[in-house]
Amino acid sequence: MNSVKLGRRGFLGAILASSAAPATLTYAASSRAAGTTLAGFDAFASRVNVRQDGPSWVIESSTLPDHPMRAGIRAWQQQVPTPQDYTGANAWRLPVTPVAAATPISARNAFHRGAIAIAVNGVPIFNVIRETGDDVYLGGELDEYGGHSGQADDYHYHVAPFHLQATVGVSNPIAYALDGYPIYGETEPDGSAVTGLDALNGHASADGSYHYHASRSYPYVNGGFHGVVTIEGDHVGGQPVTRPTRPPGRPLRDALVEAVQSTGAGAWRLPYTVAGKSASIDYVVAADSITFTFTDVFGATRTETYQRGGAGGPPAGAPPPDGQQVGPPPPNGEYGPRPTPPAGQGGQRGPGGGPQGPGLGGPPRQGPGGQGRNGPPGAHPVRQTPTPVG
Ligand SMILES: [Zn+2]
Ligand SMILES: [Zn+2]
Repeated sequence: MNSVKLGRRGFLGAILASSAAPATLTYAASSRAAGTTLAGFDAFASRVNVRQDGPSWVIESSTLPDHPMRAGIRAWQQQVPTPQDYTGANAWRLPVTPVAAATPISARNAFHRGAIAIAVNGVPIFNVIRETGDDVYLGGELDEYGGHSGQADDYHYHVAPFHLQATVGVSNPIAYALDGYPIYGETEPDGSAVTGLDALNGHASADGSYHYHASRSYPYVNGGFHGVVTIEGDHVGGQPVTRPTRPPGRPLRDALVEAVQSTGAGAWRLPYTVAGKSASIDYVVAADSITFTFTDVFGATRTETYQRGGAGGPPAGAPPPDGQQVGPPPPNGEYGPRPTPPAGQGGQRGPGGGPQGPGLGGPPRQGPGGQGRNGPPGAHPVRQTPTPVG
């Protein structure tokens, strides 16, 4: 735990001490590896730290990319992107030598929490399909780069980050699945056409090595795992842990989110409009807390401060629920009292000192089954239980 804590403070300290840059952060040079040999990541060495640790690649990132975030989102629950402390013992790990599984596993009905891949700029990629069967991309929940923030205010993609191709070139992967196999773009590394993909968007090269490709429609990235991964409940095991620092926000009808702006060191503003009227969320990220100032369409402000991390270190549980529409949005942009979660809808107390944990902040989701998805891992049904292959 000590190493985790030290890592967190050193990492966030570097972020917060750095001078403001537009919605980005830069690692302190001293915390950066001299270089990596994991293709693709080198192009983002200023913001992603990659090193080998025995059989694993260790990938450290804050998840904040160097491109605009949040612009264009229409289905939004008031999450914002904040730097995550995915360092030290809480970093990403990929096998240096991926191992083909005896039985590949589809992600169509599994792996609904947390990541299934990580982009070479350090942004995790989540399954595009929710437990409800909805396609997050088709639902208008993603920004122009294919990302948004989950209930832990954690920025992630749900579709292929094709924009990274311009930086890394076609000869390098734009992401890696968590089984360790690379994800290339729409061509082979030599620029030739892609043929013969399997159901997971992957195939073997002439030399027998397996890789995935990104696509413009489902599954967008790896549609599951050709290789061995550890499975914990409904997510790939061993991935970094984050926790919501505040209760989930409510969906806003007619909201249009603009790009996040840097307003100072460790400070950002997310402007948006509701039915054409301006509002914003300003937030300041300190080492151990985040202060949010909400300005509604009437100019009224509300400030809330939440502790990050809280006592006791990360829980052993699953990644937090993703951001999503959890109930009917209010008729306007006004903020009212948060509804009490109905019994049985999760609502466990937040570990971060917030008044409410990752439980539902609104009425149960409407739709087939009316199924809340915010209970503890395993509390929600999984249509198909994957069998661990490792
Ligand atoms: Zn290929
Ligand atoms: Zn998401």
